[in-house]
Amino acid sequence: MRVMTPSYLFAPAPQPSVAVQGRAERLPVRRIYCVGRNYAEHAREMGGDPRNITPYFFDKPADALVADGGIVPYPSLTAELHHEAELVLAIGAGGRDIAVENARDFIIGYAAGIDLTRRDVQAAAKQAGKPWTMAKGFDYSAPVGAVALAAAIGHPRKARMTLTVNGETRQDADIADMVWSPDEIVAALSREIVLAPGDLIFTGTPAGVGALVPDDIVTAGVDGVGTITVSIA
Ligand code: MN
Repeated sequence: MRVMTPSYLFAPAPQPSVAVQGRAERLPVRRIYCVGRNYAEHAREMGGDPRNITPYFFDKPADALVADGGIVPYPSLTAELHHEAELVLAIGAGGRDIAVENARDFIIGYAAGIDLTRRDVQAAAKQAGKPWTMAKGFDYSAPVGAVALAAAIGHPRKARMTLTVNGETRQDADIADMVWSPDEIVAALSREIVLAPGDLIFTGTPAGVGALVPDDIVTAGVDGVGTITVSIA
């Protein structure tokens, strides 16, 4: 059988990817999902109620990834660019309706990430009942460090996560304090869409989010997983 090679009107965009610790190969990224309000204290600082919620998701474009050491241009149309330190799950096997107890089989690794947010745009969208897309999914909004493979580090469920700005600690929490665990998040998301290899999931941020300004150097880290450092230009 002859395989048809598609031709395109113009060159396709490059494949988004993230580095993998200890490996020459990169992890090709398909989609980026994010969990909202997954630490009780952060839910409260956002004016919400952490009780009786189910996990809910939003997304970022895969080409919004920024690698460790990268530069984030201060985005347009905001005066309140916020940092959110997050543990990021990397999906290595596809599936739907995944059971919580099987979720680890689908997670190939973990990384530290920063869910950059136009907080003022998000607040206006919430107020108006509009989508969060432009508050969360803008260019350079998804810094993610090198993925640590689960084969090497296991599946961390208790680890200190910190975020510093110019060396000053802004966020300091434990991933054990998530409302919905990584396994519950994978299970819940797999009921909404079919997960595929290369999907990344930001798992939510703890309390302490705050504003960034040009020339800030931001580092998020999860003990035993890795770090991500970017500078704001
Ligand atoms: Mn977030």
